[in-house]
Amino acid sequence: MQARILSGKPIAEAIKAEVALEVAELKERYETTPALAVIRVGEDPASAVYVASKVRTVEELGMRSEHLHFHENIAEQEVIDAVNELNSRDDVDGILVQLPLPPQIDERKIIDLIDPAKDVDGFHPVNSGRLMQGRECLVPCTPAGVIELLKRSDVKIAGKHAVVVGRSNIVGKPMSMLLLHENATVSICHSRTSNLVEMCRHADILVAAIGRPGFLRREHIRDGATVIDVGINRLDDPGSAAEMFPTDECERRLAAIEKRGFTLVGDVKPKDAIDRAGSYTPVPGGVGLLTVAMLMKNTIKAAKLRRGIE
Ligand code: NAP
Repeated sequence: MQARILSGKPIAEAIKAEVALEVAELKERYETTPALAVIRVGEDPASAVYVASKVRTVEELGMRSEHLHFHENIAEQEVIDAVNELNSRDDVDGILVQLPLPPQIDERKIIDLIDPAKDVDGFHPVNSGRLMQGRECLVPCTPAGVIELLKRSDVKIAGKHAVVVGRSNIVGKPMSMLLLHENATVSICHSRTSNLVEMCRHADILVAAIGRPGFLRREHIRDGATVIDVGINRLDDPGSAAEMFPTDECERRLAAIEKRGFTLVGDVKPKDAIDRAGSYTPVPGGVGLLTVAMLMKNTIKAAKLRRGIE
C-alpha cells in the first residue's frame, strides 16, 4: 500500500487563519498591531526568497513588517547596532536575522544579542534552555511545525519511538526535545552514529534533518513508519532525480531541472518512502510550508507575551 502523504499546505493555511483571527482580536481589543522586523545581509538568492515569503505572509495576516537589507560587506558593528535598535523599540515584537550571514559577521554573537522576548526564530540560548526545561518560550519554527503537522494529521506521538537524524541547534536538537515533551522515546542520530540503518529501522516516527538529498532510503524505513522529511536540497543531476522519484513524478522533476537548473528534494528518497512508510511529508509541500506559518504564530505569541496578554 502506498504511504499517506502528509501535506503541509492545509495545515499551514489553518495555522495562518488562526493567527489572522488573533491579529484582528489584538487590533480590536488592544489597539495594537504585532510587528516583525527581518534583517537580511547580502544577496544569497535562497535567503532573498525566504525573507520575501516571510514579509509577504506577515502583511497578509494583518501584521506589520520591516525589512532591513544590508550590503554583503557591511561591518559587524552595523548589524549589532541594528539589532540593538530593534531590541529597544516598543513597536517591534519579533526580530529575525536571516541566516547564513557573511563570514565577517559572527552569527552566534548576533543571535545572542537579540532580546529573547523578541527572538521569534527561537535560536537564543535563553529560549533553547527554556525549551529544554519544558518552560514557556519561543520555539524554533521548523521543529514546532513538525509537531503541529503530526498532531493535526492524527499521528500518535506518545509512547512511540522517534528517531531524529540530525543534531543541529535549529532543527535536530529542538525537534528531539519537542518529541520528548510529547512523551515519545527519542533517539538522536548524527554523522558519527555507527548503526544508522538499525537505529532508523526501529523508528515509528523517523525525522530526517540532514541536508543530503535522498540520503535515507528503503533500508532505513520501517514498514508503516511515519517519515518526516525536513531536508531542503537542490538537486541538479537528472540521473539522480530519475532514480529518486517514482515514474509519475519523474517527468515533472526533470522538466524543473531543465528549466530552473534544479529541483528541490528532501533527505529521504521519495520513491522508497512511498513504498515503505505509512505516511510521509513530501518536499516541497511538506514541512517547509509549516516553518513560515509557525514564524507567524511565534510573532503573535511574542506580541502577546510582551504585553502580558493571555
Ligand atoms: P546542519 O546544521 O548541517 O545539520 C545536519 C545534521 O545532519 C548534523 O547534525 C549532522 O551530523 C547530520 N548528518 C550529516 N551527515 C550525516 C550522515 N551521513 N549520517 C547521519 N547524520 C548526518 O543542517 P540543519 O540546519 O539542521 O538542516 C538540515 C536540513 O533541513 C537541511 O536540508 C536544511 O536545508 C533543512 N531545513 C529545512 C527547514 C524547513 O523549513 N523545512 C528549516 C531548516 C533546515 P553532525 O552533527 O555529526 O555533523
